Amino acid sequence: MSIIDEIISACGQEYVSVNEPMSRHTTFRVGGNADIFIRVSSKEQLISGLKVCRDSDYPVTILGNGSNVLVSDAGIRGAVFEFGREFADISVVKEDDMAFVTVLSGALLSNVGAYLMKEGIAGFHWASGIPGSVGGACYMNAGAYGGEMKDIIKSVEVLTSDLSVEVRDLESLDLSYRHSALMSEEAYVLSATFALPYGDSETIKAMTDELNQKRRDKQPLEFPSAGSTFKRPEGYFAGKLIEDSGLKGYRVGGASVSTKHCGFVVNDEHGTATDIYKLTEDVKKIVFEKFGVNLEREIRLLGEF
Ligand SMILES: Cc1cc2nc3c(=O)[nH]c(=O)nc-3n(C[C@H](O)[C@H](O)[C@H](O)COP(=O)(O)OP(=O)(O)OC[C@H]3O[C@@H](n4cnc5c(N)ncnc54)[C@H](O)[C@@H]3O)c2cc1C
Repeated sequence: MSIIDEIISACGQEYVSVNEPMSRHTTFRVGGNADIFIRVSSKEQLISGLKVCRDSDYPVTILGNGSNVLVSDAGIRGAVFEFGREFADISVVKEDDMAFVTVLSGALLSNVGAYLMKEGIAGFHWASGIPGSVGGACYMNAGAYGGEMKDIIKSVEVLTSDLSVEVRDLESLDLSYRHSALMSEEAYVLSATFALPYGDSETIKAMTDELNQKRRDKQPLEFPSAGSTFKRPEGYFAGKLIEDSGLKGYRVGGASVSTKHCGFVVNDEHGTATDIYKLTEDVKKIVFEKFGVNLEREIRLLGEF
C-alpha cells in the first residue's frame, strides 16, 4: 500500500484529499498543492494518521484557519492536517466566579466569541475579530486591542511528537508577543481551556461590535491578506516604519503594501506566493536601509521559498 493509501485508510476517505490546492485554505488565497490534505475530525483519527506519517518519516504540516501563513507556490510536500470545523466543540464548566471554557482547536475565534456572548461569559471580545482558529491563536499567542491569549488560557491539551496527550499549564507555554514554546517543539494543540469572568451579553456585544468596526475602519479587509505581515519591532510600529520608508502602495506583481494600513501586505491583484514573499523581502531591506531596524515576519512560511 502507498503512504497515501495508508493515510486515507487511517483517516477516512471522506476527510482526505490528494493534491489539494492550499490557496483554498489560506486567507492570502495563494499556495500550491499539498500532497495529501486531511481534515481533522477526532483525536483518534489524528493520532492514527500521524502514526502512519511517523512510521514512514513522511513530513507533516499543521494548519488552522490559514490566516497567518504564506504557503509556497510549489505547495507543501507530505501531509497537511487541518484543524477546522469538524474539530470545534465548545464545553463550559460554570463555577461561582468564573467559567472554564474548553474549546477544540479547530473552532474559529469568531464562533467562540459569539457562543460566549450568548452565554454571558466575558473577556473574549478582543479575540472575536481575529480570523483564526483556537489552535492557531494559542500557537501564535494571538492578541488585539490590549488582550492576548496569554491573559485567558488556563491550560492547553497538546499531542506531543511521540503521540501522547499532555496538558500544559499556562506557565509552560511560555507565551509572549506572538511567541509560544510550541514553536520550538513538535506539539499540536488539541484544545484550550480558558478561564473567563461572567458578563452581560448586551455589553459584550457592544464591545465586540466596537472593535469589529475599528477593524473595518483601519484594516484592508476587502483584500486577501494575513493580517499584520511583520511583528512590531521594539520601540516602533512596523506599519509606520514601512510608510515612512515611502513604501505605501509598493507593489510586486499582484501583491502590494496596503494603502489603508502599511502593516498589511495585500494580495489585491491575484498575486502569487512568490510575489508576496519578494515584496516582504524588499520591505525588510528598504526599512533596514532607511532606519536600521530589522523587521521580522509575523506570518509563518510553509513550503519552500
Ligand atoms: C484580516 C486579518 C486580521 C488579523 N488580525 C490579527 C490580530 O488582530 N491579532 C493577531 O494576533 N493576529 C491577527 N491575524 C493573524 C491570524 O489571524 C492569527 O495569527 C491567528 O491566531 C492564526 O490562526 P490560524 O488558525 O489561522 O492559524 P494558521 O494560519 O493556520 O497557522 C499559524 C501557525 O500556527 C500553527 N498551528 C495552527 N493550528 C495549530 C494547532 N492546532 N497546533 C499547533 N500549531 C498550530 C501553524 O502550523 C502555523 O505555524 C489577522 C489575520 C488576518 C487575515
